Amino acid sequence: MEEWAGGLLALWAFPQQIVPLSFQLHQDLANEFGGEDEWGYRRLTTISVEGDISDARLNYIKEYNQRLKAEKHSGRTTRNSKNARLNDIAEDAVDGAVSGAKKNSKDNDNDDNEEEDDDDAARDDHDEFEKALNAHLDVGSKPMSRATTIKKNSIEIESNDSSAEKRSSHLPKNLMWIDDKVINDWNQLGNESTTAQVHPYQFTTFILKQCIATGCVELVIGKIDDIIIDEESGECNGIIYHPSSAKAENEGLTKQKFELHGDKVIMSIGPWTSKILPDCPISGLRAHSIIIQPERVEEISPYAVFTELKLNKNKFVSPEIYARKDEVYVCGEGDSSVLIPETTDDVEVVTEKCEELFKYVSKLSNNLKNGKVLKRQACYLPVLDIPSSSGPLIGETNVDNLYLASGHSCWGINNAPATGLLMSELLMDGEATSCDISALNPSLYFDATLIYDDEDADLENDEEEEEDPDNNASEDGSYEDSYDDDEGAEEDDDEDDDEKAE
Ligand SMILES: Cc1cc2nc3c(=O)[nH]c(=O)nc-3n(C[C@H](O)[C@H](O)[C@H](O)COP(=O)(O)OP(=O)(O)OC[C@H]3O[C@@H](n4cnc5c(N)ncnc54)[C@H](O)[C@@H]3O)c2cc1C
Repeated sequence: MEEWAGGLLALWAFPQQIVPLSFQLHQDLANEFGGEDEWGYRRLTTISVEGDISDARLNYIKEYNQRLKAEKHSGRTTRNSKNARLNDIAEDAVDGAVSGAKKNSKDNDNDDNEEEDDDDAARDDHDEFEKALNAHLDVGSKPMSRATTIKKNSIEIESNDSSAEKRSSHLPKNLMWIDDKVINDWNQLGNESTTAQVHPYQFTTFILKQCIATGCVELVIGKIDDIIIDEESGECNGIIYHPSSAKAENEGLTKQKFELHGDKVIMSIGPWTSKILPDCPISGLRAHSIIIQPERVEEISPYAVFTELKLNKNKFVSPEIYARKDEVYVCGEGDSSVLIPETTDDVEVVTEKCEELFKYVSKLSNNLKNGKVLKRQACYLPVLDIPSSSGPLIGETNVDNLYLASGHSCWGINNAPATGLLMSELLMDGEATSCDISALNPSLYFDATLIYDDEDADLENDEEEEEDPDNNASEDGSYEDSYDDDEGAEEDDDEDDDEKAE
């Protein structure tokens, strides 16, 4: 799923037991392996904005720009006449009359380019604009509804960033790609010492390739159907899976099941965890996202922008906008009504939700509006359904040798390096020493001895084995379909086969 995530990294993420370590490890990895070039690692500024993209406000802005332009062309502008006219427009906006703007809307639509030219000039007049608008709409002076709280994919997060500072005037000077005039208020949530970003797909595939290159890691592509628990000892000693790579498909092996044995088994299948461990309180929360190629990429300064945007009196939306080096990523809020499908291939992308995201950000930014939507996508957050904990769960379950590293919610990219380090300590040394993760212990939260008793699946399995019991099975029962560089490159290019048996 990593290819669909935003890739924001923050010192104020959760859980605080592991976040500082993970944030530092991201920096260390970037230093060691050239993360800046390889996976777009960089520090950036994070802000939250409260904006108004209602028709009344947008019409007001259009009207304002047009009158300003007309006055400039006629050379008749004086401070007093301008203020008087601004007041007229603001009154129209408040009354909902905006008749002038509506009457002219056809002309306005044909006038987009001219409107952009006006933008620079209009910024200079922003103080007058704000004064007139605030007097009539009662905005600008209004405190943000959540001064220190941000919403990341429908999950409330407390910002602990002590540098967070409330501002109510202009956006930062280098944030020219967001239209100041639709913003009522903004806060800084993080600066370059507390926030960073990666391109999640580039980061995860680079690290995976590095691991494989050590010769200590073998990638087998397949879907796990079950875990194997030794009846006598009660310990977990392997998994049952069926291959799902292109190679297995060509060889007609994707319906066959194989066993893979090991001393220790780590489940890290995110929102799908409860499909194997039914008592595990991790579920999936779908969120849509789009990637935009801006019209003028050179103007896209490094900002992550959390928004709360007014559509009308009763409706607000909160897309998150992350500038990347050569594109802009936008994700929407969680969509809790949709159950997680069987595999990532079956995740439904609702095009209208992606179009809505584009519509909202187009109202914030002409640069994005005139850009091109490169990708429309959806993915599931692995959410821990426990009020007292935000996850993740990292450690051994109550079944010996069965470990979990899952339930990272909206911070799985941020917390991936620390999770990896802590898991290696647990497996190699028997104890996690880098951080105190006792509160993240999976055995506190669910019973991993409860597994699915699927007689139908067993029957199906028996039939398949009768057909061709030994086909490609190695001595330990696993299918010889190990990763090689060529196949990996192909998978990477396709960016679509992300079911990896751990
Ligand atoms: C829209 C969105 C934006 C996000 N933005 C950010 C962000 O800015 N910063 C951040 O830190 N995090 C972000 N996240 C969160 C982050 O993406 C997740 O926390 C992270 O991907 C979880 O990693 P995971 O490996 O546990 O699960 P996943 O990434 O979901 O990976 C699970 C894998 O297991 C595979 N799988 C499932 N079932 C099986 C099976 N039976 N057998 C074999 N394989 C199986 C799946 O195919 C999948 O590849 C975002 C998430 C979303 C949805």
